[in-house]
Order: sequence, then structure tokens, then C-alpha cells
Amino acid sequence: MTVQEICSFSAGKWIGCDDEARQIFSAITGDLIARAGNSTLDIDAMLDFARTVGGPSLWAMTFHDRARLIKAIALVLTEKKQALYDISFSTGATQKDHLIDIDGGIGTLFAFASMGRREMPDDQIYLDGSVERLSRNGTFLGQHVCTPLQGVAVHINAFNFPVWGMLEKLAPTLLAGVPAIVKPATATCHVTELCVRIIIESGILPKGALQLVCGSIGDTISRLTSQDVVSFTGSASTAIHLRSQPQLIENSIRFIAEQDSLNASILGPDAAPGSPEFDLFAKEVKREMITKAGQKCTAIRRIFVPQAHLNPMIEILKTQLTSTSIGDPRLTETDMGALVSNVQKRNVLEKASMIGRQAERIFGDPDNFDVIGTEVGNGAFVPPMLFYCPDPDTAENVHDTEVFGPVSTIMAYRNMDHAIELANRGQGSLVASVITNDAEVARQAVLSAGAFHGRLYFNNRKSMQESTGHGSPMPQMLHGGPGRAGGGEELGGIRGVMHYMQRTAVQGSPDILTRISKKWVPGAEQSSEPDHPFTRTFGMLEIGETLKTKSRKISTEDIEHFAHFTGDTFYAHMDDAAARRNPFFPGRVAHGYLLLSFAAGLFVQPDEGPVLANTGLDKLRFMMPVQAGDSIKVCLTVKHKTPRNESYGEVRWHVSISNQDDALVAEYELLTMNAYQCPASI
Ligand code: NAP
Repeated sequence: MTVQEICSFSAGKWIGCDDEARQIFSAITGDLIARAGNSTLDIDAMLDFARTVGGPSLWAMTFHDRARLIKAIALVLTEKKQALYDISFSTGATQKDHLIDIDGGIGTLFAFASMGRREMPDDQIYLDGSVERLSRNGTFLGQHVCTPLQGVAVHINAFNFPVWGMLEKLAPTLLAGVPAIVKPATATCHVTELCVRIIIESGILPKGALQLVCGSIGDTISRLTSQDVVSFTGSASTAIHLRSQPQLIENSIRFIAEQDSLNASILGPDAAPGSPEFDLFAKEVKREMITKAGQKCTAIRRIFVPQAHLNPMIEILKTQLTSTSIGDPRLTETDMGALVSNVQKRNVLEKASMIGRQAERIFGDPDNFDVIGTEVGNGAFVPPMLFYCPDPDTAENVHDTEVFGPVSTIMAYRNMDHAIELANRGQGSLVASVITNDAEVARQAVLSAGAFHGRLYFNNRKSMQESTGHGSPMPQMLHGGPGRAGGGEELGGIRGVMHYMQRTAVQGSPDILTRISKKWVPGAEQSSEPDHPFTRTFGMLEIGETLKTKSRKISTEDIEHFAHFTGDTFYAHMDDAAARRNPFFPGRVAHGYLLLSFAAGLFVQPDEGPVLANTGLDKLRFMMPVQAGDSIKVCLTVKHKTPRNESYGEVRWHVSISNQDDALVAEYELLTMNAYQCPASI
């Protein structure tokens, strides 16, 4: 059998192994299948290539450019995913497991590509929050902005998700505009290497944006600088070793850690046998135990059920686990494949025996179980093992020993306070779930357990058809957890991108802020054009371009007409005495919606032109009442422009309505879709 040589990708070249390469074994047969690592890898050259070649190419792009690039990678990987499935079986993963690792990884790319285009500007600077007024007259303002770190992101990944583990970090890193050096765990780096080859060979990424170290990463950490980031996933012991490197501490280098976690699942006190929640709970527990043979950082390690429902829950779990077929992951009838290696198997059995000191194994015998398949000679198979701990208050191992395999412990609780107290004894986890149909139980869990868990997952009869699963980190939601889970955060939508950017407080005049942000800021210069802005195409409109309208007087007849026409005969518009009794009004006032309608009548240019549609209003505020006899006029300013597709883009207009004394009566942002060309010229 040929032993594959797994390469690293360094400064634009694939580098093979040397004599010090590490060995990789098939999880199914135990045979040596590959070698990875080269002790002569020039780490300085890789860091330099990333910082001087990859970084500048990425910084030159806008967030939308980078989002498009991430989507293109997702499409290429989708096309070639069969090759990834094929190679992944050797890690012990079943086809169902591939859907989480490979399809899940690709899905994460698609999600970030879409969030990047929807939630980030087509620009190189990301604005964090609103403009802050720092002076009485508004001539000195503040705005938080985020720009990409000018270093490199070093991603050190765990063995269990060789594809998702890389892509869930790569997507936010690239979107931020930062190059990455990926170091997968050796045991499964052959899968990651193939994924990186597909990406590199597609030619989508600029040079230097992605490099790969298979095997040892040597002393890379000691060569990092303050503009670099380390994003680590793995065990707590490796995290402690890495995060205490002097170079990291001395230079305040960001270190994001996702490490082990004693996740819990609680069956709500309301979920009695026979309820949909009772069955749902058993289903989720079984799924979490056997998926990836329990090698999931989010898997349920501790199962808490009300004392009264303990025995029925044990029975249903035993029945469900009995029907689990273990064996060659390539067979369609296999429910659970192998652990990643025999080293991992030894680790799992050792840790399971530690749990066994304080709990009784009530299902699964590692010395006596069936394995299906004809080529499973020395594979790393274990059965799912369920333990019962009779005294969870005094037991310690069940709350602090992570068995990274298909092993969970069931425990009984007295009441919800007790359940939460036990769940929190994990000292910080990635996820805790509560299966309940009682919203009060859910609120209690958030108040008492929220601080201990990165994610709280509630499921019941109403959400179970569409719920995403206890163990699945979603790209839109935070993944990470406090304390023992590493104290890090990943994903969480655009929050995940911010780990690779620097937030800077920028202070200056409205004109300075307008130029930096490419968003017109009140108080900044306003320009005017001879043509009405509604006759000008998306490309012609300038940030700050302003239309000032003539004024219109509001009469009692206008208010009456509007009230009866719309049916809005609210007393403040109809009854002077009643309006006066209201602390907000000096007497009968015009409808706010009347003002908006009159404003549109004042600023609209009615002819067919580049404005295609009004798609909304944001941040509407009525500041001052308008009464019959008052006049209003409008100031319409181009605040921001965002291209949307090949033919049109969104224009955000700042609209202010003022009265005859120039006092502001209403302010809002108007959104329109504007064509790149006038309809007549198309
Ligand atoms: P690990 O042994 O800590 O290894 C993690 C990564 O660190 C691997 O790439 C490993 O490379 C590398 N590494 C080890 N020693 C290093 C050193 N001295 N310098 C630089 N890199 C070093 O963890 P694992 O066994 O792969 O993964 C299992 C653990 O990860 C479990 O505890 C699990 O809970 C945790 N995990 C957590 C999450 C999460 O999101 N929180 C996700 C998945 C897994 P080599 O393989 O080459 O040694």
C-alpha cells in the first residue's frame, strides 16, 4: 500500500515531507496511510509572504470583493466535494458525518459570503456603530471604524473537523482582509490538504492569502508580532501551552481559543414520558453521542433529567443505542464509524475509566461489541457508552473529564435550580441545551446559566422540525464559551470577522468623518447640482449632494382631509382641547404621516427616471409638533450608496423636515433603488 506524502503550501510552493514527518493511520484499518511534516519549512518566509504579498492584495479589495471570492471558493468546493468525501472515510467519519464537516464547511462559506455583501459596505472600512456627537454644535464628532490587521492569522485546528474547522475560521479571516496560515491537526491533515489544493488550484485567491502547514508548526508562535492573530481549536492543555508563550504575552497578540467543553443537556421538568419533548430529548442525546463517534466539541457529555423521569429516560436511551450499528464508515448501514486513531481510542478508554470511578457503565462494553465490515482489522472502534452517576453533587470526574468519544453520563436532578447548578459545574461550556415547552423554564435557564455557556439551545414540539441541533454551531450565531471552553468566540455573523480587524475610535469634523466613512454626516458640506437628483443615475449622484425644496403651508383642511381619507382620526389631530391635555402637544397637530407624505410631494421628481423604487425608511423621528398655519420644507441629501446588482444600487438619503423657523420637526433616512442608467437610455 502506498503511503501518501502530505505537503505543506509555503510561499506559493508545495513542500513534501522530510525524515521527521509524522505518521497518519487509517481509522478503519489501523494501517499507515500517509506522512506529514517537514522540519526545514521556512516559517519566516511564510509569514513574510503572507504579510507582504497576501495581505496587501486582500486589503486592496472591498468587503464585497472578498465576499464574492469566498462564494467562488464555496462553489468550487461544492463541485469537488465527492473527492473530499472519499478521502474523509479514512478518518472514521460516515457519510452523515461528512455532511457536517464538508457540507457544513461549505455552507459556512456561503453564509459569510452572503453576510459580507448584505451587512458590510462595498468599501475597505467597516463602521462600528453610529456617529457620536462630541461637541455642542456638532462640529466635532466620533465614529468607531474597523480595518484589517496588517499581519497574518495563524489557525491551529483540531483533528475532528478537517474541513469545517478550517473553513469556519478562513471565511471571517478572508472577509476581514487578512491572510491565513492554516495548521490542521496531523491525524486528519490529509483531508485538509486536499481541500487547500482544490482552493489553491482554482486560482480564486490572491497569492499569499492562504498557506498550509502540515505536521509540526515548529516555533511559529514565537515569530509573531502584534498585528498577527492566533486562532486555536483543540485541547485545554495545548491551549495553555500556546497562550503562555512569552511572545504572545509580551506583544498582546490576540489568541482566540476554542477548547474542550463538558456540554450539558437538561430535560425540562415539564417534559414527562409521553410528551414530544421526552422523545425529542432522547433523540438529540443519541445523535450527539454517535455523530463523529462523539468527537465533537459540542457533543452532550452530561445528561440531566428530573429524578421522576430517570428510569424511563435510561430505558429509552438504551433502546435507541442498541439499534446503533458500528463499523466501516463507508457502509451505508453504518450509523457510527471509528474514532480517528488508536491513540485516540486509548485516550477515550482511559478517560471513560475515570468516569467509571464515580459512575456505573449502564450501556456499551468496549470489550464486547459488534463491528460491521470486512476491512476493520485494527480500526479505532468503540461502542457508545452510557454511564449513570448516582451522586452528581459529590462526583467530580463527570463534570471535569472530557471523554472525546461516544461517552455520556446521565444524572438525576431535584428541581431546575439543581439542574442549572450541575450544568454550571462544567466551569464554562460551548453549549447547554434545555428541552422544554415551558418558556419560564427557558428564561430561568438564561438568567442562571447564561454566564457559563457560549450558547443556550432550547427545543420543543414547536421548533423540533426546523431546529438545527444541539451540536451544530451556526455561522450566524456565536461559537465559543467562557472558562474551560477557552474564553473565545468565533462565528456569530459579522462579530466573527471583527476578531481579525482593529477597532479604532476616529474623532474629527463632519467633513473628515464623511470622507473616511463615505457616508454623509450631518454638518458636513452639502453640494447642489442644477439637475434634480431624481434625474441623475446611481453613478452620477455624489455623497453630500443635496436638494432643498420650497415650503408648503399646512392648513386645518389638510389635517381634516388626511384624517378622513386615511381613517386616522386620532384625537390629537381632531380635538384641540383633548390634544392640549396631552403633555406632548400645544393643541391640535398634523399627523406625522401627513408630514412624510407632504415631504415626498415636495422632493419627488415625478417623471420616469433612474429612481426605481422607494424601499423603506429608517431611523424616523418626529421632533416637534406641526400645527395648522405652520410651513414645512425638506432637505434631501445623498448619504450613502451601495451597489446591489448589475443594474441598480441602493441610495440612502438623509431627509430633514424643518418648519418656518428652521427648527427640525422630523428626520429620517430614505432608501431608494436607483438604476445605473436612465430607462430612456437603456
Ligand atoms: P490538540 O491535541 O490540542 O491539538 C489541537 C491542534 O494543536 C492540532 O493542530 C495540534 O497539532 C496542535 N498542537 C498540538 N501541540 C502543539 C504545539 N506545541 N504547538 C503548536 N500546535 C500544537 O487537540 P485535538 O486532539 O486535535 O482535538 C481534540 C480536542 O479539541 C478536544 O479536547 C476537543 O474538545 C477540542 N475541540 C474543541 C473545539 C471547539 O470549537 N471548542 C472543536 C473541536 C475540538 P498536531 O495534531 O500536529 O499535534
